Amino acid sequence: MEEFDFDLFVIGAGSAGVRACRIAASLGARVAVAEERYLGGTCVNVGCVPKKLFSYAAHYRDDFADSQGFGWSYQGIDFDWSKLKSNKDIEINRLNGIYKTILDANKVQVFQTRAQIKSAHELLIDGKTISSKYILIAVGGWPWTPEFPGSELVISSNEIFALEELPDSMVIVGGGYIAVEFASIFTRLGCETSLIYRRDKLLRGFDEDIRRFITTEISHDLNLKLNTNIEKIFNNDSQLQVICDDGDEIQTDTVLYATGRKPATANLGLEELGMELANNGAIKVNQDFESSIPGIYAIGDVIDRVALTPVALAEGQAVARNLFAEPGHAVSYDNIPTAVFCHPNIGTVGLSEEQALDQGLEIDIYSSELKQLRHTLSGRAERSLVKLVVNRASGRVVGLHMVGPDAGEIVQGFAVALNSGATKADFDRTIGIHPTLAEEFVMLREKRDPGSS
Ligand code: NDP
Repeated sequence: MEEFDFDLFVIGAGSAGVRACRIAASLGARVAVAEERYLGGTCVNVGCVPKKLFSYAAHYRDDFADSQGFGWSYQGIDFDWSKLKSNKDIEINRLNGIYKTILDANKVQVFQTRAQIKSAHELLIDGKTISSKYILIAVGGWPWTPEFPGSELVISSNEIFALEELPDSMVIVGGGYIAVEFASIFTRLGCETSLIYRRDKLLRGFDEDIRRFITTEISHDLNLKLNTNIEKIFNNDSQLQVICDDGDEIQTDTVLYATGRKPATANLGLEELGMELANNGAIKVNQDFESSIPGIYAIGDVIDRVALTPVALAEGQAVARNLFAEPGHAVSYDNIPTAVFCHPNIGTVGLSEEQALDQGLEIDIYSSELKQLRHTLSGRAERSLVKLVVNRASGRVVGLHMVGPDAGEIVQGFAVALNSGATKADFDRTIGIHPTLAEEFVMLREKRDPGSS
């Protein structure tokens, strides 16, 4: 007779949780997972995947327009939101099914309900107590919006994917990943879009050159209001009236708040257990992802380290291996590449110029702003930026950043080079692929001192 019902009980079947289930089960553990909402979590259902599908849809607007300079002509182009939405829903349902198949194939027992933790080895599932040697919390995060007069009238990134009709106009609030991505998308889908951000440049935390550049690019596409907060929102006939703190008023159909996400740790029983949480509710874990309660682990957005799906996958894999194979699997948070799927895309890996200076590094900066070959005929004013941050002493490239089409695709490859310790000399001796935007990275010759752009 086993001491526990399961070896591992995972709460949350998102990217992190499902990866941990699959690896643990493949290592012989008896695994269960509880999920109260949808299989696949935020990424699959209301995040990365449907957002990227919307982003593809948005790109066609530019492609249709650009094609005219290449000799194409056409009439009567139309966009059908309901078709995009229903095709997106079909694809997400298919992915939900794949997640179920993965769990079933690995003999992971799925409880489609909410779990609460009773003790270090006990959970409450639909009123029944279930025991497990280890518990893994992978419940992710949830959109957060500030409270102010009219805040009940706004929607979050959760609801945006379920809109039955494309609004004629939209106000988006925030300057992070979600705000800039959706602003780029909805303005191209034909929605009159305003992006409102409280600072002077979008995407705080990114390299300052990238921030300056993308802020200018995005300002060409939509109504960008910087250094602005919203004071209140109220119903005005069938629309919403948005009152800004600079006295401006915007009448709009929909207001999307993309003001960050918070770890979803409420009502799990964690406070009662005395688990250590950060001020924003994130679970504090050690390097093995174990919480302050021995035997209870946490990974993914709920620990609020790096809220990116591939990081959550790496964390899920590390925990499962540590518990059921051999200990010592750590996750490196260095050189995590990331992309923002605004238009044009941003791709980045390694240190920003400012982070390198904060670390006391002596650095050289190589950068170039250019117009892509494609836009000589398309007539589009869009420009691209490539930038390297180089450690002067070692010659190593410690940061690589770009704004331009397919930046995510390009930077993924360069991330391998940075992780392998590539130097500027390695970049210089690499032959370019002509004519591409990516070749600019191996053709940068003019250096400048930091802070002198
Ligand atoms: P972010 O934390 O990236 O951005 C939140 C934004 O909201 C910031 O610009 C912030 O401003 C602003 N903000 C916060 N509070 C207020 C307030 N009270 N009033 C006005 N503005 C406010 O969160 P997101 O929701 O955009 O995304 C969450 C996370 O999801 C990201 O950090 C990322 O890790 C992940 N993600 C990744 C994607 C990708 O890989 N492509 C895509 C989407 C999300 P300030 O800068 O001043 O703090």
